[in-house]
Amino acid sequence: METTERIVANSRSYFLHGNTVSFEFRKKQLVNLKDMIKKHESSIYRALKRDLNKSRHEAFTTEIGFLYNEIDFTLKNLGNWMEPEKVASPITHKGTKSYIMKEPYGVALVISPWNYPLQLALAPVIGAIAAGNSIVLKPSEHSKATSSLLSKMISETFDSSFFTVIEGGIEVTTELLKQKFDTIFFTGSTKVGKIIMREASNHLTPVTLELGGKSPAIVDIDSNINLAAKRIVWGKFTNAGQTCVAPDYVYVHDKVKFKFLKAVKKYIRSFYSKDPLKNNDYTKIINEKHFDRLLGFLEDGEILHGGGTNRETLMMEPTVLDKISWQDSVMQEEIFGPILPILSFTNLEDALYKIKMSDKPLALYYFGEDNHTQQQVIEYVPFGGGSINDTLYHLANPHLPFGGVGNSGMGSYHGKYSFEAFSHQKSVLKQTTKFDMPFRYPGGKLSESIA
Ligand code: NAD
Repeated sequence: METTERIVANSRSYFLHGNTVSFEFRKKQLVNLKDMIKKHESSIYRALKRDLNKSRHEAFTTEIGFLYNEIDFTLKNLGNWMEPEKVASPITHKGTKSYIMKEPYGVALVISPWNYPLQLALAPVIGAIAAGNSIVLKPSEHSKATSSLLSKMISETFDSSFFTVIEGGIEVTTELLKQKFDTIFFTGSTKVGKIIMREASNHLTPVTLELGGKSPAIVDIDSNINLAAKRIVWGKFTNAGQTCVAPDYVYVHDKVKFKFLKAVKKYIRSFYSKDPLKNNDYTKIINEKHFDRLLGFLEDGEILHGGGTNRETLMMEPTVLDKISWQDSVMQEEIFGPILPILSFTNLEDALYKIKMSDKPLALYYFGEDNHTQQQVIEYVPFGGGSINDTLYHLANPHLPFGGVGNSGMGSYHGKYSFEAFSHQKSVLKQTTKFDMPFRYPGGKLSESIA
C-alpha cells in the first residue's frame, strides 16, 4: 500500500513538472469534474440517501446542482481571473510596470466533513483546480458511502498524481498532517480546526478554515412574520439542521413571539408532514453519537413542537424548544441538528449586545423591515456572512465570499474567492532600462530625480 508520504511526493512531482499550470489543463480538469458528477449522478443520489437519507430534491439543490453552478461560473471566468492584475505605480517608480500574478500554491490538502459530503469535498477542489494546484482530498469517515464513491469516481477520472482521495479517520488525517503541503483547506468543527492549524504551523503551511458556531436568527417586531417563519424553518430543518450556516437559535421580539411560533409550526407541518419520522424525504442524523448528543438537548426548556425520535432510523422530528435560557446546555454549543431553541427580547440593542458577547458566528440572519435598523444590526455585530430577511441564501451567490471569522473560521471561498484561496498573490515589478532615477543612490536628490 502506498504511504501518505509517497502520495504527497507524487503530487508534488506532478506539480513541480508544471503539469497543472496551463489554462487548457485547468479548464479540461474542470470539465472532467463536471462530466464525472453527471455520469455518476444516480450513484451519488444513492450514496447520499445511504449516508443521510437525503431526498433527491435536497441532494440536487444543495450538493449536485450547487457544484454544477460553481464549475460553470469558474469556467466562464477563469481566463479573466488568471490574467495578471495590473496596478498603478507611484511617481518614484517612473518607468516601471507593476502587476500581481496569481500563482498556484502547489500541493493542496482538502479535508471535508460529512454533512454535505459531496459538495463540501468538491467545492474547494474546484478552486484548487482553477488555481493550478495538485490535490489530495480527505473526505469524512462518517459519510462512508459518499466518501468511497468519491474515491472511486476520482480515481477513474483523474491522474492520481494530480488529484487523489485518501479515505480514513483521525489516524489517517494525523498521518497526512505530518506531510508538507503548500496549502490546507479544512471544513469542520472549531475544535479540529485548531488541531489543523497547529499541525500546519510545523511547515508554515497557510490554512483556510471553514468552521462552525451558533448562528442566530433575529426576528424583529416589524418583520414579515409569516415569511420569516417560512424561511427560518427551511434554513433550520434542511438536512435536519446539519448545516454549518443553519440558524442555530431564534431570538424573537416578545411582542411577535406567539404569532411567529404559530407560523413556525404551520410550516414544519407543511414541509415535513404531520409525521416526519415516516417521511422518506426527511434527512436522518449522521450517527448514534450525534443522535445521543441531540437527545440530551431535548431535556432543556419545553418542547413546543416535535420531539419525536426513532433510534433505529436515527430520525428526529423538527423540534422547537421554548422557555430556553442562555444557561441551558442547548445554548452552550453548536446544535447541528433539527432542534430550534427560542429566546425572546424586548430591546434589540440588548439582544445584539448578548450576541456580540458570544463567539463570532458563521452566519447571522436579521428579519425586519426598517432599513436603518437592518444597517445597524449588520454593522454592530461581527459574523462571517449572512442575510437580511432570509437564511442560507447568501452562500449560494458565487459573487459573495463565504467564510467565517474568529471561532467560525478564517479565509473564504466560492466563485473567485475559491480561486484566490488556492493562489499566492505574487507581486512583480518590471523596471525600465531606458533611464535610471538617481535619487535612491547615495548622493541623489529627490527633487532632481523626479523633476
Ligand atoms: P469534524 O471537525 O469532526 O471533522 C472534519 C474532518 O476532520 C473530517 O474529515 C475528520 O476525519 C477530520 N478529523 C476529525 N477529528 C480529527 C482530529 N482529531 N485530527 C485530525 N482530523 C480530524 O467535523 P464534522 O463533524 O465532520 O462536521 C461538523 C462541523 O463542521 C460543524 O461544526 C460544522 O459547523 C462544521 N462545518 C462548517 C462548514 C463551513 O463551511 N464553515 C461546513 C460544514 C460543516
